[in-house]
Amino acid sequence: MIEFNPFFKKYRPGLKKVAVIYPNRYIGGITNLGLQRIYYEINKSEEFVAERFYTDVERGLRSVEFGIPLNYFDIALISIQYEEDYFNALKILRESKFSGRVVVGGPCVTENPFSFYDFFDRFFLGEAENVVIDVIKDASVEGLMPFSKRRRVSKLDNEMKMQIISTNAYGKSILIEIGRGCYRSCRFCIVRQIYRPARWRKKEDVIEIAEVNRKFAEKVALIAPSPTDHPQFKDIVSELIQMGFEVSPSSIRADRFDEEVAELLPTKSLTLAPEAGSDKLREILNKGIDEEDVLNAVRISKAEKIKLYFMYGLPFEKKEDLDGIIKLVEKVRSLGKKVSVSLNPLVPKPHTPFQWLPFGGNPEKSVKKNIEELKWKREYLISHLRKICEVNADKIDDFAIQTIISRGVRLRLMKKISLNRILKSDLSRLLGCMDVDSPLPWDEIEMGYKKEKLKREFEKIL
Ligand code: SF4
Repeated sequence: MIEFNPFFKKYRPGLKKVAVIYPNRYIGGITNLGLQRIYYEINKSEEFVAERFYTDVERGLRSVEFGIPLNYFDIALISIQYEEDYFNALKILRESKFSGRVVVGGPCVTENPFSFYDFFDRFFLGEAENVVIDVIKDASVEGLMPFSKRRRVSKLDNEMKMQIISTNAYGKSILIEIGRGCYRSCRFCIVRQIYRPARWRKKEDVIEIAEVNRKFAEKVALIAPSPTDHPQFKDIVSELIQMGFEVSPSSIRADRFDEEVAELLPTKSLTLAPEAGSDKLREILNKGIDEEDVLNAVRISKAEKIKLYFMYGLPFEKKEDLDGIIKLVEKVRSLGKKVSVSLNPLVPKPHTPFQWLPFGGNPEKSVKKNIEELKWKREYLISHLRKICEVNADKIDDFAIQTIISRGVRLRLMKKISLNRILKSDLSRLLGCMDVDSPLPWDEIEMGYKKEKLKREFEKIL
């Protein structure tokens, strides 16, 4: 792998060694600006030196920079972006015989730090900018459990102007976080809860970051949960294009895609997330777009291919809603586009109004019945959609594990297990309904919202 690394620092006697571990593939890790910021803050300090670890570089057992074995390091900071990263992290620590202090952070830890509570020393909740050294020194800072159970929120500052440039998820590009958090209220979405409040980076600061890095890449990726909601989105894109950059936003909302955006971003493929097959279900999700928004975006777009993201296993979902997905795909095809569809079941996430729902979405059915229905729905959609478009639909097992990890407490799981084994074990209760009037394990995390508000949102859909 070839990378330009402005934060590179060589070990010298007296420095303490910190391993920054992304327990997944390099391409995902290098696309994570939060992790780059942690690495930058450590290597800027006088007392510490950081090196990075990814599972596809030396199996995560030796550093990228100098190939130093993990167990030579004093402290490990691990970012858990996806539930299954916990298994990779545990494997790396076990195989390397790492014996130093281990701090975990990232979205999965922030949403529920208790799932693997017995396996790590410290848990960081929220955003770590400007407190990374305090975390390493085990100081009592906001966000660092057990000293604090309050999610830490940072300012979007302009401190880290340069960055590691490499082939990331957007190709060889400069990554610019134009916003964090989202002001919308999709009821299934964990991002709006763990990164609240919505914050935007000013246009001048975005342009400055692009300018500082321009000799290293010709493309800019604009990163945010919903980049097209940035109040200066079009101005930012126009100015970057005038500077000679190719621009790619991390996602586009259908109702924000107009002729001007289509002109500015003439992509070969356009990704949209209708999420459900009917406007009635989209209202339950509080998605804020309807079928006409999706079709309108497709009509305007010059892209040859449209990628559509749908969920199934939604509350009050009927067969007509599944047929609605198939019909919407047919309508998009009839507009002369190639279509690829991604299908995922709803994972009811902590801190969202859907946290009380069972996996499978139907509160009146048993765990077993909900799973049977999910399997049937997946097969039904795949068999019909395969005749008309490309379909990506991972097995239900992976999402069941995600649900268990995001809701579990002190789990003893060391690796993925099959859905059959889950259903035969006590873990299956984590796939069922949660009692609305009982405390939930993650209630004690101070996330910055009132539980009563979530309950009211939940009751609205019943
Ligand atoms: S628009 Fe996207 S990021 Fe914002 S709440 Fe909805 S799903 Fe979440």
